[in-house]
Amino acid sequence: MDLKLIIISGFKNGGLVNFFLKLINMNEKLDSYLVEKYPKIFINRYESVKNSAMFFGFDHNDGWFWILDQLCDSIQHYIDMNNEWNKIKISQVVADQVKEKYGLLNFYCHGGNDQIDGMISLAETMSSNTCEFCGSTENVGKTNGWIYTICKDCYDHSNERISYLSWGKNENSPNEDIIKEIRKIKLDKLNLK
Ligand SMILES: [Zn+2]
Repeated sequence: MDLKLIIISGFKNGGLVNFFLKLINMNEKLDSYLVEKYPKIFINRYESVKNSAMFFGFDHNDGWFWILDQLCDSIQHYIDMNNEWNKIKISQVVADQVKEKYGLLNFYCHGGNDQIDGMISLAETMSSNTCEFCGSTENVGKTNGWIYTICKDCYDHSNERISYLSWGKNENSPNEDIIKEIRKIKLDKLNLK
């Protein structure tokens, strides 16, 4: 069971404090929202710990909510459309565990097909450039030691449980010029109205 691994890695990398920090899950309202919106995918959310690791809920912070919502929307829409119109049916995706691991969103499930595996892979890649705490895609980097994917702003405002770790910006993150350009395009569009 993964809880053992969490305990072991917690003690190894950051001590007891980080172990307890890692047990802080996504906000309850966001959790319930996803379970109600995608009942087929999260059918095991309230199963016993013996039957599903979904018992532990969403083992990451709130910033990745947007990625999960879009991922589940894409998966369910794709399955429903396919199964309505195509002879070859796709088995329902059911989440087995959703967690942060080494700074990435991990979505473990059964069911689906290769296309759905691709959607999950893209979502996991997106999480590496999305702040796990606020969902920002600007100035996103990682901490060393215990890896968090966290933007500079959240890092600068973090408490001692995170601030003692050093932070470096993701090398593949858009540079300041690109971020300025995106903001400029938004403003230009608003001016057209
Ligand atoms: Zn942030």
